[in-house]
Amino acid sequence: MGKRLNILFIAPEAVPFAKTGGLADVAGVMPQVMARSESVSLMLPGYRTDGIRSAGASELDKFPVRIGAEVYLATISKAVVSDGFSVFFIANDFFFARDFLYGDDSGDYPDNFTRFLFFQKAVLEFVRRSSLRFDIVHCNDWQTAMVPLYMRTGADADFFKQVRTVFSIHNLGYQGIFNADSFKDADLPPEYFSPDSLEFFGKLNCMKAGIIYSDRLVTVSPTYAREILLPEKGFGLDGLLRKHAHKLTGILNGVDYSRWDPAVDPLIGHSYSAGAMAGKKKNKVELFARLGIAQNARVPLMVMISRISEQKGMGLLLQLLPLLLQEDLHFVFLGVGDRAWTQKMQELASRHTQSMTFLNRFDEKMAHRLEASADILFMPSIYEPCGLNQIYALKYGTVPLVRATGGLEDSVQEFAMETRRGTGFKFSGDSVDDALRAVQVALRCYADGDLWQQIQRNGMEMDFSWERVVPEYLDLYSNILAEGPPHE
Ligand code: ADP
Repeated sequence: MGKRLNILFIAPEAVPFAKTGGLADVAGVMPQVMARSESVSLMLPGYRTDGIRSAGASELDKFPVRIGAEVYLATISKAVVSDGFSVFFIANDFFFARDFLYGDDSGDYPDNFTRFLFFQKAVLEFVRRSSLRFDIVHCNDWQTAMVPLYMRTGADADFFKQVRTVFSIHNLGYQGIFNADSFKDADLPPEYFSPDSLEFFGKLNCMKAGIIYSDRLVTVSPTYAREILLPEKGFGLDGLLRKHAHKLTGILNGVDYSRWDPAVDPLIGHSYSAGAMAGKKKNKVELFARLGIAQNARVPLMVMISRISEQKGMGLLLQLLPLLLQEDLHFVFLGVGDRAWTQKMQELASRHTQSMTFLNRFDEKMAHRLEASADILFMPSIYEPCGLNQIYALKYGTVPLVRATGGLEDSVQEFAMETRRGTGFKFSGDSVDDALRAVQVALRCYADGDLWQQIQRNGMEMDFSWERVVPEYLDLYSNILAEGPPHE
Protein backbone atom coordinates (compact mmCIF):
# COMPACT_ATOMS: atom_id res chain seq x y z
CA MET A 1 0.00 0.00 0.00
CA GLY A 2 1.24 3.43 -0.98
CA LYS A 3 0.73 6.53 1.10
CA ARG A 4 -2.79 7.86 1.58
CA LEU A 5 -3.72 10.42 -1.03
CA ASN A 6 -5.06 13.78 0.08
CA ILE A 7 -8.11 14.44 -2.03
CA LEU A 8 -10.31 17.52 -2.09
CA PHE A 9 -13.77 17.28 -3.62
CA ILE A 10 -15.51 20.52 -4.46
CA ALA A 11 -19.19 20.29 -5.30
CA PRO A 12 -22.30 22.49 -5.32
CA GLU A 13 -24.40 19.80 -3.55
CA ALA A 14 -23.94 16.53 -1.66
CA VAL A 15 -26.13 14.22 0.42
CA PRO A 16 -27.08 14.38 3.22
CA PHE A 17 -26.40 18.12 3.30
CA ALA A 18 -28.10 19.58 0.22
CA LYS A 19 -29.65 17.88 -2.79
CA THR A 20 -31.46 18.67 -6.00
CA GLY A 21 -30.35 15.69 -8.09
CA GLY A 22 -27.99 12.84 -8.77
CA LEU A 23 -24.82 14.89 -8.33
CA ALA A 24 -25.64 15.13 -4.63
CA ASP A 25 -25.74 11.35 -4.31
CA VAL A 26 -22.39 11.05 -6.05
CA ALA A 27 -20.62 13.89 -4.22
CA GLY A 28 -21.91 12.75 -0.85
CA VAL A 29 -21.14 9.08 -1.10
CA MET A 30 -18.11 8.55 -3.31
CA PRO A 31 -15.80 10.63 -1.05
CA GLN A 32 -17.03 8.69 1.94
CA VAL A 33 -16.17 5.35 0.36
CA MET A 34 -12.87 6.73 -0.87
CA ALA A 35 -12.06 7.86 2.67
CA ARG A 36 -11.71 4.23 3.74
CA SER A 37 -8.30 4.24 2.10
CA GLU A 38 -7.50 7.93 1.47
CA SER A 39 -7.82 11.27 3.28
CA VAL A 40 -10.75 13.09 1.80
CA SER A 41 -12.22 16.56 2.24
CA LEU A 42 -15.43 17.82 0.69
CA MET A 43 -16.19 21.53 0.31
CA LEU A 44 -19.75 22.72 -0.20
CA PRO A 45 -21.57 26.05 -0.16
CA GLY A 46 -23.03 26.67 3.30
CA TYR A 47 -26.69 26.66 2.30
CA ARG A 48 -29.30 26.99 4.99
CA THR A 49 -30.67 23.45 4.64
CA ASP A 50 -31.74 21.09 7.39
CA GLY A 51 -28.97 18.73 6.32
CA ILE A 52 -26.29 21.35 6.90
CA ARG A 53 -27.88 22.67 10.06
CA SER A 54 -27.81 19.23 11.60
CA ALA A 55 -24.27 18.43 10.44
CA GLY A 56 -22.85 19.75 13.73
CA ALA A 57 -20.13 21.76 11.99
CA SER A 58 -17.94 24.07 14.02
CA GLU A 59 -16.58 27.38 12.83
CA LEU A 60 -12.94 27.35 11.72
CA ASP A 61 -12.16 30.54 9.88
CA LYS A 62 -13.60 33.83 8.65
CA PHE A 63 -12.12 36.08 5.98
CA PRO A 64 -13.12 38.60 3.31
CA VAL A 65 -13.40 37.61 -0.36
CA ARG A 66 -13.24 40.33 -2.98
CA ILE A 67 -15.47 40.12 -6.05
CA GLY A 68 -15.22 43.11 -8.36
CA ALA A 69 -15.66 46.21 -6.21
CA GLU A 70 -17.43 44.32 -3.42
CA VAL A 71 -16.10 42.44 -0.43
CA TYR A 72 -18.02 39.52 1.10
CA LEU A 73 -17.30 37.67 4.29
CA ALA A 74 -16.72 33.91 4.03
CA THR A 75 -17.36 31.82 7.12
CA ILE A 76 -15.86 28.34 7.04
CA SER A 77 -17.07 25.56 9.27
CA LYS A 78 -16.08 21.94 9.43
CA ALA A 79 -17.78 18.66 10.30
CA VAL A 80 -15.91 15.39 10.63
CA VAL A 81 -18.16 12.76 9.08
CA SER A 82 -15.95 9.75 9.60
CA ASP A 83 -12.34 8.87 10.07
CA GLY A 84 -10.52 10.40 7.09
CA PHE A 85 -13.56 12.30 5.80
CA SER A 86 -14.23 15.97 6.64
CA VAL A 87 -16.79 18.31 5.16
CA PHE A 88 -16.27 22.07 5.00
CA PHE A 89 -19.11 24.52 4.48
CA ILE A 90 -18.34 27.86 2.85
CA ALA A 91 -21.04 30.18 4.09
CA ASN A 92 -22.24 33.67 3.37
CA ASP A 93 -25.88 34.28 4.19
CA PHE A 94 -26.43 36.84 1.46
CA PHE A 95 -25.54 34.21 -1.14
CA PHE A 96 -26.61 30.93 0.40
CA ALA A 97 -29.39 31.47 2.95
CA ARG A 98 -32.14 31.03 0.35
CA ASP A 99 -35.06 28.67 -0.11
CA PHE A 100 -33.42 26.75 -2.94
CA LEU A 101 -29.92 25.91 -4.14
CA TYR A 102 -29.92 27.37 -7.64
CA GLY A 103 -33.27 29.02 -8.24
CA ASP A 104 -37.02 28.75 -7.81
CA ASP A 105 -39.80 27.82 -10.22
CA SER A 106 -39.45 31.12 -12.04
CA GLY A 107 -35.88 30.24 -12.97
CA ASP A 108 -32.26 30.44 -11.85
CA TYR A 109 -31.23 33.06 -9.31
CA PRO A 110 -29.90 35.99 -11.35
CA ASP A 111 -26.71 36.25 -9.28
CA ASN A 112 -25.66 32.60 -9.64
CA PHE A 113 -22.37 33.56 -11.26
CA THR A 114 -21.42 35.73 -8.31
CA ARG A 115 -22.66 33.18 -5.78
CA PHE A 116 -20.51 30.38 -7.12
CA LEU A 117 -17.56 32.63 -7.94
CA PHE A 118 -17.60 33.60 -4.29
CA PHE A 119 -17.74 29.94 -3.30
CA GLN A 120 -14.78 29.00 -5.52
CA LYS A 121 -12.63 31.97 -4.53
CA ALA A 122 -13.35 31.31 -0.88
CA VAL A 123 -12.42 27.63 -1.25
CA LEU A 124 -9.04 28.52 -2.75
CA GLU A 125 -8.36 31.26 -0.21
CA PHE A 126 -9.29 28.93 2.62
CA VAL A 127 -6.96 26.19 1.36
CA ARG A 128 -4.10 28.71 1.17
CA ARG A 129 -4.76 29.96 4.69
CA SER A 130 -5.20 26.51 6.22
CA SER A 131 -2.65 23.79 6.75
CA LEU A 132 -4.59 21.49 4.40
CA ARG A 133 -2.56 20.20 1.47
CA PHE A 134 -3.94 18.15 -1.38
CA ASP A 135 -2.60 15.87 -4.10
CA ILE A 136 -5.83 15.92 -6.09
CA VAL A 137 -8.55 18.55 -6.39
CA HIS A 138 -11.69 17.05 -7.93
CA CYS A 139 -14.28 19.59 -9.14
CA ASN A 140 -17.86 18.88 -10.16
CA ASP A 141 -19.97 20.79 -12.70
CA TRP A 142 -19.89 24.45 -13.68
CA GLN A 143 -20.30 25.82 -10.16
CA THR A 144 -16.76 24.59 -9.43
CA ALA A 145 -15.24 24.73 -12.93
CA MET A 146 -13.23 27.92 -12.46
CA VAL A 147 -11.13 26.30 -9.74
CA PRO A 148 -8.81 24.40 -12.14
CA LEU A 149 -8.27 27.67 -14.00
CA TYR A 150 -7.49 29.73 -10.89
CA MET A 151 -5.09 27.03 -9.76
CA ARG A 152 -3.06 27.57 -12.93
CA THR A 153 -3.00 31.38 -13.06
CA GLY A 154 -1.56 34.35 -11.21
CA ALA A 155 -0.43 34.12 -7.64
CA ASP A 156 -2.03 30.69 -7.15
CA ALA A 157 -0.13 28.94 -9.92
CA ASP A 158 2.99 28.45 -7.83
CA PHE A 159 1.14 27.47 -4.67
CA PHE A 160 -0.87 24.77 -6.44
CA LYS A 161 1.87 23.65 -8.83
CA GLN A 162 2.05 20.12 -7.45
CA VAL A 163 -1.70 19.64 -7.24
CA ARG A 164 -3.46 17.73 -10.03
CA THR A 165 -7.02 18.60 -10.98
CA VAL A 166 -9.92 16.47 -12.17
CA PHE A 167 -13.14 17.95 -13.51
CA SER A 168 -16.32 15.88 -13.62
CA ILE A 169 -19.12 16.71 -16.01
CA HIS A 170 -22.36 15.46 -14.49
CA ASN A 171 -24.56 17.19 -17.03
CA LEU A 172 -23.28 19.08 -20.06
CA GLY A 173 -26.68 20.72 -20.40
CA TYR A 174 -25.85 23.07 -17.52
CA GLN A 175 -22.72 25.02 -18.43
CA GLY A 176 -23.02 28.18 -16.37
CA ILE A 177 -23.33 30.68 -19.21
CA PHE A 178 -23.45 34.35 -18.19
CA ASN A 179 -23.30 37.78 -19.78
CA ALA A 180 -19.90 39.00 -20.89
CA ASP A 181 -19.79 41.71 -18.24
CA SER A 182 -19.60 39.01 -15.53
CA PHE A 183 -16.05 38.39 -16.70
CA LYS A 184 -14.71 41.49 -14.97
CA ASP A 185 -15.63 39.99 -11.61
CA ALA A 186 -13.60 36.89 -12.38
CA ASP A 187 -10.45 38.97 -11.92
CA LEU A 188 -8.57 37.41 -14.81
CA PRO A 189 -6.34 38.95 -17.50
CA PRO A 190 -8.40 40.07 -20.55
CA GLU A 191 -6.95 37.37 -22.82
CA TYR A 192 -9.00 34.79 -20.93
CA PHE A 193 -12.11 36.26 -22.49
CA SER A 194 -11.45 34.72 -25.89
CA PRO A 195 -12.91 31.74 -27.78
CA ASP A 196 -9.80 29.71 -26.82
CA SER A 197 -10.64 30.27 -23.21
CA LEU A 198 -13.85 31.29 -21.42
CA GLU A 199 -15.72 33.12 -24.15
CA PHE A 200 -18.63 31.29 -25.75
CA PHE A 201 -20.44 33.17 -28.52
CA GLY A 202 -19.92 36.50 -26.80
CA LYS A 203 -20.80 35.18 -23.35
CA LEU A 204 -18.88 33.75 -20.43
CA ASN A 205 -19.01 29.95 -20.14
CA CYS A 206 -17.86 28.57 -16.78
CA MET A 207 -17.80 24.93 -17.83
CA LYS A 208 -15.20 25.73 -20.50
CA ALA A 209 -12.77 26.57 -17.70
CA GLY A 210 -13.13 23.09 -16.25
CA ILE A 211 -12.73 21.42 -19.63
CA ILE A 212 -9.69 23.40 -20.73
CA TYR A 213 -7.68 23.84 -17.53
CA SER A 214 -8.16 20.57 -15.64
CA ASP A 215 -5.65 17.74 -15.95
CA ARG A 216 -8.35 15.10 -16.44
CA LEU A 217 -12.00 15.11 -17.42
CA VAL A 218 -14.48 12.56 -16.24
CA THR A 219 -18.07 12.09 -17.15
CA VAL A 220 -20.47 9.73 -15.49
CA SER A 221 -20.89 6.92 -18.02
CA PRO A 222 -18.86 5.53 -20.93
CA THR A 223 -21.69 6.06 -23.42
CA TYR A 224 -22.21 9.67 -22.36
CA ALA A 225 -18.44 10.23 -22.72
CA ARG A 226 -18.80 9.26 -26.39
CA GLU A 227 -22.09 11.09 -26.95
CA ILE A 228 -20.82 14.49 -25.81
CA LEU A 229 -18.18 14.44 -28.53
CA LEU A 230 -20.97 14.66 -31.12
CA PRO A 231 -22.90 17.80 -32.08
CA GLU A 232 -26.25 16.23 -31.21
CA LYS A 233 -25.44 15.90 -27.49
CA GLY A 234 -22.47 18.23 -27.20
CA PHE A 235 -24.44 21.41 -26.39
CA GLY A 236 -22.02 23.48 -28.48
CA LEU A 237 -18.98 22.16 -26.61
CA ASP A 238 -18.47 18.98 -28.66
CA GLY A 239 -15.67 20.62 -30.66
CA LEU A 240 -13.84 21.67 -27.52
CA LEU A 241 -14.41 18.25 -25.97
CA ARG A 242 -13.06 16.51 -29.07
CA LYS A 243 -9.93 18.64 -28.69
CA HIS A 244 -9.57 17.45 -25.09
CA ALA A 245 -10.84 13.91 -25.72
CA HIS A 246 -7.42 12.47 -24.81
CA LYS A 247 -8.03 13.42 -21.19
CA LEU A 248 -11.71 12.38 -21.05
CA THR A 249 -12.90 9.15 -19.37
CA GLY A 250 -16.42 7.85 -18.75
CA ILE A 251 -16.94 6.11 -15.40
CA LEU A 252 -20.43 4.90 -14.51
CA ASN A 253 -21.58 6.22 -11.14
CA GLY A 254 -22.03 3.85 -8.26
CA VAL A 255 -24.93 3.86 -5.83
CA ASP A 256 -25.17 3.69 -2.08
CA TYR A 257 -26.71 0.36 -1.13
CA SER A 258 -26.78 1.32 2.54
CA ARG A 259 -29.59 3.72 1.58
CA TRP A 260 -30.94 2.12 -1.58
CA ASP A 261 -31.54 -1.55 -0.94
CA PRO A 262 -35.00 -2.89 -0.05
CA ALA A 263 -33.44 -5.30 2.43
CA VAL A 264 -32.23 -2.45 4.67
CA ASP A 265 -34.08 0.70 3.50
CA PRO A 266 -35.63 2.28 6.63
CA LEU A 267 -37.90 4.52 4.56
CA ILE A 268 -40.05 1.69 3.22
CA GLY A 269 -42.78 -0.18 5.08
CA HIS A 270 -41.83 -3.76 4.24
CA SER A 271 -38.34 -4.93 3.49
CA TYR A 272 -37.64 -7.62 0.94
CA SER A 273 -34.88 -9.19 -1.13
CA ALA A 274 -34.46 -11.37 -4.20
CA GLY A 275 -35.12 -14.51 -2.18
CA ALA A 276 -38.10 -13.12 -0.25
CA MET A 277 -40.23 -10.85 -2.37
CA ALA A 278 -43.48 -10.73 -0.39
CA GLY A 279 -42.66 -7.28 1.04
CA LYS A 280 -42.72 -5.70 -2.38
CA LYS A 281 -46.35 -6.60 -2.95
CA LYS A 282 -47.26 -5.37 0.54
CA ASN A 283 -45.57 -2.06 -0.20
CA LYS A 284 -47.61 -1.74 -3.37
CA VAL A 285 -50.89 -2.45 -1.60
CA GLU A 286 -50.01 0.12 1.06
CA LEU A 287 -48.99 2.70 -1.50
CA PHE A 288 -52.26 2.28 -3.40
CA ALA A 289 -54.17 2.79 -0.15
CA ARG A 290 -52.05 5.78 0.87
CA LEU A 291 -52.45 7.50 -2.49
CA GLY A 292 -56.12 6.59 -2.79
CA ILE A 293 -55.50 4.54 -5.91
CA ALA A 294 -58.61 2.44 -6.39
CA GLN A 295 -56.92 -0.23 -8.49
CA ASN A 296 -56.31 -3.85 -7.75
CA ALA A 297 -52.66 -4.39 -6.79
CA ARG A 298 -52.46 -6.86 -9.65
CA VAL A 299 -52.50 -3.90 -12.07
CA PRO A 300 -48.95 -3.00 -13.10
CA LEU A 301 -47.61 0.16 -11.46
CA MET A 302 -45.33 2.26 -13.59
CA VAL A 303 -43.54 5.21 -11.97
CA MET A 304 -41.31 8.11 -12.81
CA ILE A 305 -39.22 9.93 -10.19
CA SER A 306 -37.72 12.86 -11.93
CA ARG A 307 -36.94 16.52 -12.24
CA ILE A 308 -39.51 18.02 -14.55
CA SER A 309 -37.43 19.27 -17.44
CA GLU A 310 -37.07 18.89 -21.17
CA GLN A 311 -34.07 16.60 -20.61
CA LYS A 312 -36.12 14.00 -18.77
CA GLY A 313 -38.28 13.40 -21.82
CA MET A 314 -41.36 15.34 -20.75
CA GLY A 315 -42.27 15.96 -24.39
CA LEU A 316 -42.37 12.26 -25.22
CA LEU A 317 -44.07 11.43 -21.93
CA LEU A 318 -46.93 13.84 -22.53
CA GLN A 319 -47.54 12.45 -25.99
CA LEU A 320 -47.25 8.89 -24.76
CA LEU A 321 -49.40 9.08 -21.64
CA PRO A 322 -52.84 9.34 -23.27
CA LEU A 323 -52.01 6.14 -25.19
CA LEU A 324 -50.33 4.48 -22.25
CA LEU A 325 -53.23 5.12 -19.93
CA GLN A 326 -55.48 3.08 -22.20
CA GLU A 327 -53.44 0.06 -21.16
CA ASP A 328 -54.23 -1.78 -17.97
CA LEU A 329 -51.78 0.04 -15.70
CA HIS A 330 -51.45 2.82 -13.15
CA PHE A 331 -48.90 5.60 -13.60
CA VAL A 332 -47.40 7.66 -10.77
CA PHE A 333 -45.14 10.65 -11.39
CA LEU A 334 -43.13 12.18 -8.53
CA GLY A 335 -41.31 15.34 -9.44
CA VAL A 336 -40.86 19.09 -9.43
CA GLY A 337 -39.39 21.52 -11.89
CA ASP A 338 -40.22 23.55 -14.94
CA ARG A 339 -43.49 25.43 -14.57
CA ALA A 340 -44.89 24.98 -18.08
CA TRP A 341 -44.32 21.21 -18.15
CA THR A 342 -45.72 20.93 -14.63
CA GLN A 343 -48.91 22.63 -15.72
CA LYS A 344 -49.31 20.25 -18.64
CA MET A 345 -48.79 17.27 -16.34
CA GLN A 346 -51.42 18.67 -13.97
CA GLU A 347 -53.94 19.04 -16.77
CA LEU A 348 -53.32 15.51 -17.98
CA ALA A 349 -53.54 14.08 -14.47
CA SER A 350 -56.86 15.84 -13.87
CA ARG A 351 -58.26 14.15 -16.97
CA HIS A 352 -57.05 10.68 -15.94
CA THR A 353 -57.66 10.53 -12.20
CA GLN A 354 -58.43 6.80 -12.37
CA SER A 355 -55.16 5.71 -13.93
CA MET A 356 -52.63 8.39 -13.06
CA THR A 357 -51.32 10.12 -9.93
CA PHE A 358 -49.17 13.24 -10.07
CA LEU A 359 -47.17 14.00 -6.92
CA ASN A 360 -45.76 17.44 -7.55
CA ARG A 361 -43.23 17.66 -4.74
CA PHE A 362 -39.71 16.73 -3.73
CA ASP A 363 -40.17 13.86 -1.33
CA GLU A 364 -37.25 11.61 -0.50
CA LYS A 365 -39.38 9.13 1.43
CA MET A 366 -41.88 8.84 -1.39
CA ALA A 367 -39.02 8.26 -3.86
CA HIS A 368 -37.98 5.23 -1.79
CA ARG A 369 -41.57 4.04 -1.42
CA LEU A 370 -42.17 4.24 -5.13
CA GLU A 371 -39.01 2.28 -5.91
CA ALA A 372 -40.17 -0.34 -3.41
CA SER A 373 -43.75 -0.58 -4.71
CA ALA A 374 -43.53 -0.17 -8.45
CA ASP A 375 -43.28 -2.78 -11.14
CA ILE A 376 -41.75 -0.58 -13.83
CA LEU A 377 -39.61 2.56 -13.61
CA PHE A 378 -39.90 4.70 -16.72
CA MET A 379 -37.02 6.95 -17.84
CA PRO A 380 -37.55 8.37 -21.32
CA SER A 381 -34.71 10.95 -20.96
CA ILE A 382 -33.59 12.67 -24.15
CA TYR A 383 -30.09 12.41 -22.77
CA GLU A 384 -28.94 10.99 -19.45
CA PRO A 385 -25.32 11.38 -18.31
CA CYS A 386 -25.71 8.51 -15.84
CA GLY A 387 -29.09 8.47 -14.15
CA LEU A 388 -29.43 6.91 -10.73
CA ASN A 389 -33.07 6.00 -10.44
CA GLN A 390 -32.82 3.15 -12.93
CA ILE A 391 -29.88 1.74 -10.96
CA TYR A 392 -31.81 2.00 -7.70
CA ALA A 393 -34.79 0.41 -9.46
CA LEU A 394 -32.75 -2.66 -10.40
CA LYS A 395 -32.01 -3.37 -6.74
CA TYR A 396 -35.69 -2.91 -5.82
CA GLY A 397 -36.88 -5.43 -8.40
CA THR A 398 -38.51 -2.55 -10.26
CA VAL A 399 -37.84 -3.16 -13.91
CA PRO A 400 -36.41 -0.15 -15.75
CA LEU A 401 -37.88 0.87 -19.08
CA VAL A 402 -35.55 3.46 -20.55
CA ARG A 403 -34.49 5.32 -23.63
CA ALA A 404 -31.17 3.84 -24.77
CA THR A 405 -28.93 6.83 -24.08
CA GLY A 406 -25.94 7.66 -21.86
CA GLY A 407 -25.88 5.89 -18.53
CA LEU A 408 -29.29 4.33 -19.19
CA GLU A 409 -27.72 2.42 -22.08
CA ASP A 410 -24.78 1.37 -19.87
CA SER A 411 -26.74 0.25 -16.80
CA VAL A 412 -29.77 -1.51 -18.29
CA GLN A 413 -29.46 -4.65 -20.42
CA GLU A 414 -32.35 -5.39 -22.74
CA PHE A 415 -34.20 -8.50 -21.63
CA ALA A 416 -33.99 -11.30 -24.18
CA MET A 417 -36.74 -13.87 -24.18
CA GLU A 418 -34.53 -16.64 -25.68
CA THR A 419 -31.75 -16.46 -23.10
CA ARG A 420 -33.85 -15.06 -20.25
CA ARG A 421 -31.00 -12.67 -19.58
CA GLY A 422 -31.22 -8.92 -19.30
CA THR A 423 -32.55 -6.52 -16.71
CA GLY A 424 -34.99 -4.19 -18.43
CA PHE A 425 -36.45 -2.74 -21.61
CA LYS A 426 -35.14 -0.07 -23.95
CA PHE A 427 -36.22 1.97 -26.91
CA SER A 428 -34.29 4.43 -29.09
CA GLY A 429 -35.18 7.64 -30.87
CA ASP A 430 -38.09 10.00 -30.28
CA SER A 431 -40.89 7.97 -31.76
CA VAL A 432 -43.91 7.63 -29.49
CA ASP A 433 -44.74 4.37 -31.25
CA ASP A 434 -41.37 2.86 -30.38
CA ALA A 435 -41.76 3.86 -26.75
CA LEU A 436 -45.28 2.48 -26.63
CA ARG A 437 -44.12 -0.78 -28.20
CA ALA A 438 -41.46 -1.15 -25.50
CA VAL A 439 -44.12 -0.61 -22.82
CA GLN A 440 -46.34 -3.23 -24.43
CA VAL A 441 -43.48 -5.75 -24.51
CA ALA A 442 -42.83 -5.05 -20.84
CA LEU A 443 -46.53 -5.48 -19.99
CA ARG A 444 -46.67 -8.80 -21.80
CA CYS A 445 -43.70 -10.02 -19.75
CA TYR A 446 -45.38 -8.72 -16.60
CA ALA A 447 -48.43 -10.81 -17.37
CA ASP A 448 -46.23 -13.92 -17.24
CA GLY A 449 -45.38 -14.08 -13.54
CA ASP A 450 -42.39 -16.41 -13.85
CA LEU A 451 -40.83 -14.43 -16.63
CA TRP A 452 -41.24 -11.21 -14.69
CA GLN A 453 -39.64 -12.70 -11.59
CA GLN A 454 -36.67 -13.73 -13.72
CA ILE A 455 -36.22 -10.15 -14.98
CA GLN A 456 -36.52 -8.83 -11.43
CA ARG A 457 -33.94 -11.32 -10.15
CA ASN A 458 -31.54 -10.49 -12.96
CA GLY A 459 -31.66 -6.83 -11.94
CA MET A 460 -31.47 -7.43 -8.21
CA GLU A 461 -28.30 -9.45 -8.66
CA MET A 462 -26.45 -6.59 -10.33
CA ASP A 463 -23.85 -4.76 -8.27
CA PHE A 464 -23.35 -1.06 -8.92
CA SER A 465 -21.83 -0.28 -5.53
CA TRP A 466 -19.32 2.52 -5.05
CA GLU A 467 -16.92 -0.07 -3.70
CA ARG A 468 -16.59 -1.30 -7.27
CA VAL A 469 -16.24 2.17 -8.77
CA VAL A 470 -13.85 3.90 -6.38
CA PRO A 471 -10.80 1.86 -7.48
CA GLU A 472 -11.30 3.24 -11.01
CA TYR A 473 -11.07 6.78 -9.67
CA LEU A 474 -8.05 5.94 -7.53
CA ASP A 475 -6.31 4.53 -10.61
CA LEU A 476 -7.09 7.68 -12.50
CA TYR A 477 -5.65 9.83 -9.70
CA SER A 478 -2.52 7.70 -9.47
CA ASN A 479 -2.03 7.94 -13.20
CA ILE A 480 -2.15 11.73 -13.28
CA LEU A 481 0.10 12.00 -10.24
CA ALA A 482 2.60 9.68 -11.92
CA GLU A 483 2.60 11.91 -14.99
CA GLY A 484 3.66 14.87 -12.85
CA PRO A 485 2.99 18.53 -13.65
CA PRO A 486 2.36 19.20 -17.34
CA HIS A 487 5.11 21.08 -19.14
CA GLU A 488 4.34 24.73 -19.74
P1 ADP B 1 -30.67 14.12 -12.17
O1 ADP B 1 -29.44 14.21 -11.35
O2 ADP B 1 -30.47 14.47 -13.61
O3 ADP B 1 -31.82 14.85 -11.58
P2 ADP B 1 -30.60 11.26 -11.50
O4 ADP B 1 -31.46 10.10 -11.89
O5 ADP B 1 -29.15 11.10 -11.68
O6 ADP B 1 -31.16 12.56 -12.22
O7 ADP B 1 -30.82 11.55 -9.95
C1 ADP B 1 -32.03 11.98 -9.46
C2 ADP B 1 -32.01 11.81 -7.95
O8 ADP B 1 -32.92 12.74 -7.38
C3 ADP B 1 -32.45 10.44 -7.50
O9 ADP B 1 -31.82 10.12 -6.29
C4 ADP B 1 -33.96 10.64 -7.30
O10 ADP B 1 -34.51 9.72 -6.40
C5 ADP B 1 -34.01 12.04 -6.76
N1 ADP B 1 -35.25 12.76 -7.07
C6 ADP B 1 -35.60 13.38 -8.22
N2 ADP B 1 -36.80 13.98 -8.08
C7 ADP B 1 -37.22 13.72 -6.84
C8 ADP B 1 -38.40 14.07 -6.08
N3 ADP B 1 -39.37 14.80 -6.61
N4 ADP B 1 -38.48 13.65 -4.81
C9 ADP B 1 -37.49 12.90 -4.26
N5 ADP B 1 -36.37 12.54 -4.91
C10 ADP B 1 -36.22 12.95 -6.18
